[in-house]
Amino acid sequence: MSAMGIFNLVRFQLAICLGKCAAVFSQMFGRGGGTAVSGLVATFIEPNVHRQISNILSREVIFVTGTNGKTGTSSLISQILRSKGNFVLSNSSGSNMARGVVSAYISSLGIGGILKRRRKKMASVFEVDEAVLPSLSSQMDPKIEVFLNLSRDQLDRYGEIDNIAASWAQSLSSHSGLTPDVLVVNADDPKLYSLVDFGRKNSIQTITFGLGDPSVASDDVFDLYERDFCSCGSDIRYEVKYVGQSGSWSCSECDIERPDPDVLAAKVTLESNRSILKIKLAGQAEALDLTVHQQGLYSVYNVLAAISAAWGYGIHPADSIQAIESASGVFGRQEEFLVVNAKAKVWLAKNPQGLNEVLRTLTETTELPLNLLLVLNDGIQDGKDVSWIYDANFEILEGKYKFLACSGSRSHNLSLRCLIAGLDVVKSDSDIMGMLDFSLDRTPHMETLNIVTTYTGMIEIRENLANRTGVLPYWK
Ligand SMILES: [Zn+2]
Repeated sequence: MSAMGIFNLVRFQLAICLGKCAAVFSQMFGRGGGTAVSGLVATFIEPNVHRQISNILSREVIFVTGTNGKTGTSSLISQILRSKGNFVLSNSSGSNMARGVVSAYISSLGIGGILKRRRKKMASVFEVDEAVLPSLSSQMDPKIEVFLNLSRDQLDRYGEIDNIAASWAQSLSSHSGLTPDVLVVNADDPKLYSLVDFGRKNSIQTITFGLGDPSVASDDVFDLYERDFCSCGSDIRYEVKYVGQSGSWSCSECDIERPDPDVLAAKVTLESNRSILKIKLAGQAEALDLTVHQQGLYSVYNVLAAISAAWGYGIHPADSIQAIESASGVFGRQEEFLVVNAKAKVWLAKNPQGLNEVLRTLTETTELPLNLLLVLNDGIQDGKDVSWIYDANFEILEGKYKFLACSGSRSHNLSLRCLIAGLDVVKSDSDIMGMLDFSLDRTPHMETLNIVTTYTGMIEIRENLANRTGVLPYWK
């Protein structure tokens, strides 16, 4: 080995070692599991740490990106892969920025620096922030990239979505290293069409997924102020819309249209606490029946994406069913707690499309009327600009709730939004724990309090509910 090679190796080991120490100290002093700090430290010492980790992982890396569903989908893929005997590395409890990947790797190391359970075949599933994807994929050359959807996020400025879509397509074509072996793409989202097109033109295995049951189409007439355009410049038109801007679409001028999904949910039955699916696979006559223990169409999309990714990894969809059906949920996403004599269910919603889907799921597949606590924070992870609540369909709640309370650092904006929607807010206060107690007290015996919250509110509420009910904190 050259002197430079030895220097790089020593620097990498030092970066990992000091990152590990930072994580241990952070955990000792109770800073939420130290999930980000170790990655920060290691990246500071060795800027090329991602490429070296990817080499160690032999490129057995799956990236999952999109505006909504990253955590749920990554968790499902991990559970399928684990059920097939793989040891799976993931950033499930950490950050989806570049440092989160490093932190996940470091946390999988024992104090001695040896990967735990190294005897097993190892795979990595990382959820990656939309904006971080291009740079991170050029450093790590993932084997599989999963693209879920792209919608206006809370921090979006005009045109940002189109920029992100373009940067994804560009990252594939100008890949400094290797292109992925497999692309998994949501066929229903027209913004992702360029990725399917790229995959097909470059002979990359491209697995598309989508919905094919108009009976669960959104009848929501609420205008999201979003329009989609084809690469030819013309409007995209929809035969059916399922979630936000995802549906059965085609260009109003040229012959570009939704690709036929390779993994298609041909029949979807949404029930309270579960969804029942009939899945058709391209080129196969037999359909697969599957029960998902989560509510709402977003969960259905997550399942289709996970099945597709596992298929790209070599696991046939029929062999994924058992893992999906027995999959545990993801912390803070439709997670339920039994608190003395009421149930509390936590729903994460951090952008208009996510919130619309949660509200739709609550009003269409949950026992009504609802006991409801809405929480809006404006921390860095939530987004400082909360004006996105005006793009969400609060009006859908009219006549569907027993009581509605608001909390969070921007509870005043939230209650004003509810008033404009014609809803009665029983109480609004920024003190989240006080409002949690208030709402639980008001929830009738053995009924469910549904808590819909932005990210930092979810972390705070989940920790409180976990403490009351003896559920472990998320990082344990
Ligand atoms: Zn067109």
